Amino acid sequence: MFKKLFNFKAYRKKSPWILHYNAGSCNGCDIEILACLSPKYDLERFGVLNTGNPKQSDVFLVTGPVTFRSRERLVELYNQIPEPKVVVAVGSCTCTGGVFRGMYNVEDGIDRYIPVDVYVPGCAASPELIIDGVVKGLEVLETKTKQIEVPFKLSTSPEQKDGIVDRTNMSKRIGDD
Ligand code: SF4
Repeated sequence: MFKKLFNFKAYRKKSPWILHYNAGSCNGCDIEILACLSPKYDLERFGVLNTGNPKQSDVFLVTGPVTFRSRERLVELYNQIPEPKVVVAVGSCTCTGGVFRGMYNVEDGIDRYIPVDVYVPGCAASPELIIDGVVKGLEVLETKTKQIEVPFKLSTSPEQKDGIVDRTNMSKRIGDD
């Protein structure tokens, strides 16, 4: 009963919370992300909720080429998001530096600092592509959730000694057998 009610593996994909961070973008892609959340594109139909708190987030949506001033915040926010998490790079300048590539004050894309799971191209990235990227990210999130949340299985039943249940040595890692 408890397992059915709190099956996080199944529910996380259906109710992912996103954290949107502007790492120095021109605001073009940020406006498109907000358009995705509007009734016209309705990203919330996938259960997506835009949160301002990294500790409650599953999907990290990043825009911008990563400026020198934003890079520390980028890494700090990434570290605060609990595992499993997915990073979606939105826009050409987030993927490669785009039109800002080679400038004195940018880092030419976010994957020099944090691992990226999905790249969404375009300048600006269209709402359709952003939604595709988030949905693709949810598939990655599901895979990561399985890897993290099912590392062990029960191999024996608990034993009772003098009325006390002994649960030691009941589990083993999946894949060890
Ligand atoms: S990809 Fe283009 S529109 Fe998007 S933030 Fe970069 S420069 Fe602006």
